[in-house]
Amino acid sequence: MAADLSRNGSLEADIRELGERIFELAGQDVPSVFDSRWWSGKVMDWSMKDEAFKVEMFRLVDVFPTLRSAPEIARHLKEYFCRPEQDFPVAFQLGLKAVSPTSMVAKAASAAIRKNMEAMAKGFIAGRTPEDALTVLRKQWDAGYAFTVDLLGEATLSQREALDYQARYAELLDALAAEAPRWPDHPGLERADYGPIPRVNVSVKVSAMYSQLDPLDFDGGVAMLTERLMPLFTKAHGYGAFLNLDVEQNKYKALTYAAFKRILDQPELRGYEHAGIVCQAYLRDSLADLQDLGRWANRRGAPVTVRLVKGAYWDYETIHAAQEGHACPVYTDKALTDANFEACAAHLIANRRWLRPAIGSHNVRSLATAMALARKAGVPDSGLEVQMLYGMAEPLKSACRQMGYRVREYAPVGDLIPGMAYLVRRLLENTSNEGFLRASFVDKEDVATLLGSPRPRAGEAADSGPGGYHPPALTDAAAPGRFRNEPLRDFVEESARLGMAKAVEALDARIRSGKAAKKTIPLFIGGKELRTDDTKQSVDPADPSRVVGVYHIGGEAEADAAMQAALGAWPAWRATPPKERAAVLFRAAQAMRSRRDELSALQVFEVGKPWREADADVCEAIDFLEYYGREMIRVGRPRRMGDVPGERNDLVYRSRGVGVVIAPWNFPLAIITGMTSAAVVAGNPVIVKPAEPSPVIAWRMVECFREAGLPAGVLNFLPGPGRVVGARLVDHPKTRFIVFTGSNAVGLNMVQAAAVTGPDHPGIKRVICELGGKNAVVVDSDADLDEAVAGVVKAAFGFAGQKCSACSRVIVLDSAYDEFVGRLKEATLSLKLGLPSDTATSVGPVVDHKQLASVRGWRDVACEEGEVLVRREDLEPGYYVGPTVVTGIRPEHRIAQEEVFGPVLAVMRAADLDEALQWANGTRFALTGGLYSRSPATIARVRQEFEVGNLYINRPCTGALVERQPFGGFKMSGVGSKAGGPDYLMQFLEPRTITENTMRRGFAPDV
Ligand SMILES: Cc1cc2nc3c(=O)[nH]c(=O)nc-3n(C[C@H](O)[C@H](O)[C@H](O)COP(=O)(O)OP(=O)(O)OC[C@H]3O[C@@H](n4cnc5c(N)ncnc54)[C@H](O)[C@@H]3O)c2cc1C
Repeated sequence: MAADLSRNGSLEADIRELGERIFELAGQDVPSVFDSRWWSGKVMDWSMKDEAFKVEMFRLVDVFPTLRSAPEIARHLKEYFCRPEQDFPVAFQLGLKAVSPTSMVAKAASAAIRKNMEAMAKGFIAGRTPEDALTVLRKQWDAGYAFTVDLLGEATLSQREALDYQARYAELLDALAAEAPRWPDHPGLERADYGPIPRVNVSVKVSAMYSQLDPLDFDGGVAMLTERLMPLFTKAHGYGAFLNLDVEQNKYKALTYAAFKRILDQPELRGYEHAGIVCQAYLRDSLADLQDLGRWANRRGAPVTVRLVKGAYWDYETIHAAQEGHACPVYTDKALTDANFEACAAHLIANRRWLRPAIGSHNVRSLATAMALARKAGVPDSGLEVQMLYGMAEPLKSACRQMGYRVREYAPVGDLIPGMAYLVRRLLENTSNEGFLRASFVDKEDVATLLGSPRPRAGEAADSGPGGYHPPALTDAAAPGRFRNEPLRDFVEESARLGMAKAVEALDARIRSGKAAKKTIPLFIGGKELRTDDTKQSVDPADPSRVVGVYHIGGEAEADAAMQAALGAWPAWRATPPKERAAVLFRAAQAMRSRRDELSALQVFEVGKPWREADADVCEAIDFLEYYGREMIRVGRPRRMGDVPGERNDLVYRSRGVGVVIAPWNFPLAIITGMTSAAVVAGNPVIVKPAEPSPVIAWRMVECFREAGLPAGVLNFLPGPGRVVGARLVDHPKTRFIVFTGSNAVGLNMVQAAAVTGPDHPGIKRVICELGGKNAVVVDSDADLDEAVAGVVKAAFGFAGQKCSACSRVIVLDSAYDEFVGRLKEATLSLKLGLPSDTATSVGPVVDHKQLASVRGWRDVACEEGEVLVRREDLEPGYYVGPTVVTGIRPEHRIAQEEVFGPVLAVMRAADLDEALQWANGTRFALTGGLYSRSPATIARVRQEFEVGNLYINRPCTGALVERQPFGGFKMSGVGSKAGGPDYLMQFLEPRTITENTMRRGFAPDV
């Protein structure tokens, strides 16, 4: 942070004086948001006193626009506020309970609430359309306030929505430019010391301009933003209007700044001075951004305006960083944000030749500091603009205006539904314990405290820096600590993008030059590499003429040799203490971590995984190693049972014997590593048969285990045809367990084959298999469709639908159906099909020619049984199947019952929740399922009744994480306990109880 302003005594005195003046001029007025007349009864009071009430209240505000009838409103009110576990004001709860949803009272009450909600939204939104807003803006202009207009919008999920949004902005500029010149002159609002100020001022949210905006595809994102924003800047320039780019979540910040600079560097905009951007002082790197922006503006030779704010996404940023284990981009101590705001204000004022300051805050201390700094620097008051939100902090606006500052109101325009999201953000901000307005006008803190310089917390409560989880290079088996998920690459960081790009380019070059195919991949039996005469190629599914690797395959003789090697290794390995076995897993995790980008790049080319998914797969593999290592240490501890004198009972676990691991290709490193590591750490030697499409990746796992020091014979690697090698191993009498992930047909055959016993079988084989699903997502009538459409698209088409957890049916309740389907269609049409190595690609090829034929066949079935909503073109030359969506699907259709491992989505229209649940449960499978709903009662019912192994509520139904979401299903979706969960290891162990009578001649030791 820059200058420590608090040490400057005379500045503090000026701040205090200016702050007191603001409070004095604000008088006794209370901002309308805290005014009880604005709210229904005591709702705001209760919201601020009771956090639980506030949550329910704001959730109701959020869902409200989707409630289409009085009974719906009455039902939601009861569900939000009358749950048995809640402790809300009794009179309020009784009043709600007494109302029958279909009664006249409910109708009247619903109408009143609707009116109230609309009034509330109107308090923050200047109008539904630009035309509506003009009246309000004019009124405010006459009262002495300038404006900037922002268009509220739903999340942009498709190109069409983005283009609509762009067109609405163009119309907004036209409407304002036509009307504003008719308004009377207002010199205070139209001139600064540095020159004229446009009347028309518009603020744009860039994320709405491109539905596929993603920091991973940084260059593509900047190019598209430039393309979409350039016409708006040109138009604004033509009208002599001001255009500002708002800054949203941190993931879009660098994209926004880059696009801003690129646009303003265009020759036709070089001298344009009326462009602005936002700086969020809660970001740790905001001051550095300002310094960089100043240097750029200087080079450009024309100034820009910077709206300095604290930042509106604090909760999102902190929660997101905690969930992902990423460094937190924002300060977590409010005083640090406040102090940084002051430092940024000082920087702007010092560099105002290039960066014109606009101070966006409702905090009197923050405002007064900027004013005092400006005065000290000799800046006339017209050189410092104050910006505040429409409908908020009116007394402060009035005070700043009376002091001679130009006050600009940020006025959102738009419909109620997107308006509610904006309203909830504002309500959160106003009622937050940390918020200045609440402290001033509700908690009535004394002025000296409010105007005091920011004091960062001390000790443990202090901001502890960006944090984030940095895994140790090597976990110590003696003290492994608690399990933490390996953080996914944060592609917001340029270094993460460059690191993976380098690996992708290097492998691409090796494949192109033929080097990748030169060193063949051997079998690995009894600790020795073995090269048979038979080889096969592993090819790139995006272009099968490209060879990613050549591997040797084995047959029955090699299967028998592998079994002998494994049997030979068993005694020593099972006698190895659990901690030592766990240490091998931790070292294998270290080996994977050290070649993480290389392993991800390999997935891009060998199975066609897009970058983000490839990285996630490597992380999951590391997670399995770290998790099962810790689990073995836990399970391996001696366990005493019962507590009676004279008897000692021990529960111990022993390994089962040789296991066969038959792995899939869709999570080519994670699943094979998970199955192998669990079996091995439990003391069992294994024979691993990799999937045909992904032997090179599987071999990399073997290399990591070798590097980790796994003894010879414990892990045997045997690529080969399933009919030969797989069948031989499954049937082998000495096989003690089979762990398989794959198709239903193969899995069921295996279960049958394993059930056969004979005189030379040392025991009954155990089969642990994870099979397919026909996963459904239910979309309720009150669902947030921004989330539901995005979540379904991600779950249905991520990795071209080739995940066992993928969504293949979406069951939409009647009243949400038309809107959902309309947006789903556009969102599917907007997905970028292409090479997995291209960062812009969201859908790549399917894995091989067999899958291609199968998925295309099922697509034909789908198109025959339903109506085609979307059928994207197949690309050439790879194994591409264009994402397809069909509607009108009924439960009896084959496409509603059979698993399709590809990008084909069936849409079903259900009359009500009963029907939706009946359909959702009406298949042989029970793997994953999803629900989008904002009704607590629906959520509670679906939790009980949806028969799936993994149920996801209000999020995509893919992407389970080790430990957090142990994964696996039942019915025909598999047998065995969940991978990545606390029961998984048990399947590889035999529990034994040993009881000893410790009493001798009437005497027994104490323990
Ligand atoms: C005209 C205008 C335009 C705006 N445009 C944008 C924009 O483009 N992008 C954007 O993100 N926001 C924007 N905002 C919203 C603005 O960020 C919030 O209104 C602002 O955060 C509230 O700050 P304050 O100074 O008024 O209040 P204060 O009550 O002093 O500050 C509250 C803010 O402090 C920060 N904070 C809260 N708790 C903590 C904590 N524990 N640790 C660290 N920091 C914390 C948060 O940023 C929170 O919003 C705009 C605001 C205005 C007035």
